[in-house]
Amino acid sequence: MTNERSGRERPLMAIQVGAISFADEGIPRVLDIFQERAGINALIYAVYTYTRGTGGRQIPGHSLPDHGKQEYDEFFGGNYATTHPQYYRKTAIKDFEAPDEATRGTDWLDAVLPEAQKRNIDVYAWAVERVGAHVPGAPLLMQRDVFGRPNGSPCYANPDYRYWMLGLMEDYAKSYPIAGIQWGSERRGPFESTILGSVPYCFCEFCLANGRAAGIDVERARQGYEALYTFARSTRGGARPRDGYYVQFWRILFRYPEILQWEKLWFDQQQALHKGIYGTVKAADRNKTVGWHVWHQISFSPYLRAEWDFAALRRYSDWIKPVLYNNCAGSRYHDHLAGWHRSAFADSDPEKTYRFMYDVLGIDEAPY
Ligand SMILES: [Zn+2]
Repeated sequence: MTNERSGRERPLMAIQVGAISFADEGIPRVLDIFQERAGINALIYAVYTYTRGTGGRQIPGHSLPDHGKQEYDEFFGGNYATTHPQYYRKTAIKDFEAPDEATRGTDWLDAVLPEAQKRNIDVYAWAVERVGAHVPGAPLLMQRDVFGRPNGSPCYANPDYRYWMLGLMEDYAKSYPIAGIQWGSERRGPFESTILGSVPYCFCEFCLANGRAAGIDVERARQGYEALYTFARSTRGGARPRDGYYVQFWRILFRYPEILQWEKLWFDQQQALHKGIYGTVKAADRNKTVGWHVWHQISFSPYLRAEWDFAALRRYSDWIKPVLYNNCAGSRYHDHLAGWHRSAFADSDPEKTYRFMYDVLGIDEAPY
């Protein structure tokens, strides 16, 4: 991958890393290992994260690496750089520096940058989209489900969330000599989520207003998602629909076309934040690049893939980093297909459909 827009000739060869590795093992030593063993010229540095898999030492129950501290850390997550308050005036969320004991008290972006620059390693600040429940004000940003309850994920239409993320991007772009930003959202809209067993979302006041402005009958959308949710749960003890699960699934979609309209509203709002991030970073410093962490589910869900049209995405991307690591085509794909077989595909089984799904996805993988 060549970074054409920044004018850099060399290919981008990056490794993901969190602040805890530098805290545990020392900045020069970690960079030595990266250069010697992996030949990298860039870091995708998870300086804003609430996921232990990207920012913690290791997920409990998984084996620790053969280097570094041999114990599981107490992980909270947040901003591992300094939160400069002038960039957060339009959001109620202001107190989100990571409180983790092992990394507290140091700006880990500021600490790593001089040593990386000395070695000609580019640093990309990576923000992993998630919100820690411990952040003051976090519950007020959350999506509302179809029954009116907050869930655990922030709503893209909530101005406090939008301005938090845009402020963070401006902060990173203006405060640090980084090469760019990677932002990543491992989320899907309400349509497939409901099929896979989640309670439908988002019906917060901001989404309802945006839905009305888009000409959607929001009450019909709510009824449609209640029907889809009831259907998705029907395989767990409910009676088989008279015409079968697949026909019933389509019957609900025909009866409530607002289901797909509501999905599109959610996706458009998610992409609007991507566009906002791209524009914010470019306005702050046009030499910095913006790339996206592309969730592995987009590779193997035909519905997500249809939404994530890379031809459209290129209008607000300098580069992308699809998730390709080891278990994406294995256990995660397996789970995804099994989820559809607990609802719309419940009259068949994955042993029969996986070959068809490989064909329609254009992939050729191992037996189910
Ligand atoms: Zn909402």
